[in-house]
Formats: sequence, C-alpha cells, structure tokens
Amino acid sequence: MEKAAILLMGLPGAGKGTQAFRIMERFPNFVHFDTGGEIYRRITDPSYENDPVVQEQNELYFAGKLNDPKWVSELVGERISFYSEAEKGIIFSGSPRTLFESKQIAPILFKSYGRDRVLVLVLGIAQETALSRSLNRLVCTNKTCRYPTTKDMAGKPCPTCSQVLPEGEQAEEAWKTEQIETRFNEYQERTVPALEYLLSFEIAEMIDGELSQEEVSARVFEAVKRRLA
Ligand SMILES: [Zn+2]
Repeated sequence: MEKAAILLMGLPGAGKGTQAFRIMERFPNFVHFDTGGEIYRRITDPSYENDPVVQEQNELYFAGKLNDPKWVSELVGERISFYSEAEKGIIFSGSPRTLFESKQIAPILFKSYGRDRVLVLVLGIAQETALSRSLNRLVCTNKTCRYPTTKDMAGKPCPTCSQVLPEGEQAEEAWKTEQIETRFNEYQERTVPALEYLLSFEIAEMIDGELSQEEVSARVFEAVKRRLA
C-alpha cells in the first residue's frame, strides 16, 4: 500500500500494539513509530558522541529523567520526515498522548503524508475490559520486538521473533497494572483532549475493541482499505 500514517488510539488493553503488528505483517513498507525507541537510538548513536545537545539528553535519559519535550518533538518531526521521504508508512500505537503532542505531530503528518493519508483508528473498550486484559498481558522481552501477547503464552516462543516468552512476573509490566487507575485518569484528562483535537480533522474511525482480535483486525483492514487504498 502507498505510504500513509495510521494512529491507533484507545485505553490500555484496547489492542493497539497487536493491531500495529498485524498491519505491519500485511504492509511490510510500514514501520512502527516508537518515540521511546527513536530517543534511545539517537542518544546512543556514536555519530552524535560529540554533539553537546544530544549528550545532555543522553544524561537525562540514563538518570531516569524525562527528555526535553521541545527536543523530543524536533526529533519526532525529523524522523517522520525521514520515513516519509523513504516512502515508508508509519504506525503509531498510543501516541500522541497529550494535546501538546497532538498539536505538534498532526501538522508534521499532514505535511509529510497529506491529510487524506492520515488515519486515526480509535479502538473502544470498557474500563473493566482494560483492567482484565492488563492483568493478562505478556510482552516479549526482546527489545527490538516487544510483541504484546497473553500470559498463556509464557515459556513458549514469541510468534514474531521466536525468543522464548518470559514466565513469572514481569516487573516492567506489573507497574502498569498497579497504576491502572492513574492511567485511566490520565487517559481521560490528557489523551481524550488529544484525541478530540484529531477528531476535528474528520480523519478518525471508531472500532469496537471488545470484539476478538480477528474481528477487530477485519474492521481495521476494512477501514484502511476504504480510507487509504
Ligand atoms: Zn518477540
């Protein structure tokens, strides 16, 4: 499929990561745009070793602090243009998270891909579903994979990269369940305004995320075909 930008939005557990993997499987010219991964690659890139701005961000990152939002949005803009010029499509799962990010990212996407090639897919689920799925979440520990699956897959090979999926408690996932109330509140207070801003451009489709993965996928591909093919 010709390049486009697809933004998957919804509560934790809505299936954003799973659907992102499915879209990439079908359209190999699409990449998963992971802001955290882009930050990590830039600050550890040896060709920026003598760049004082990048080194300052490197120190913040490894001290566990947040990177400068302005620096992050410039990096995101640069990387979106890079993928677009390389004729790659991009998929976002779970970002933009705030109205600030939304206002930063939307004009860059419109400029790089054209407004009619930016599609927002909102996967709607109830909070109870978000909570139960969150408790059942298992994520591949291979840093370049991060395939999201369920706990019944523990100890089995990852369907995407074949590395054995972890057994027992996943510390980096457990906090997300402990903080689920906070994450619901953050979603309501910060992400809903980001989403409403995107909805104002009439580039969004609502999909029932309560359905099975296969049914959600079918609706995702139907919307992609209708809007982007
Ligand atoms: Zn994997």
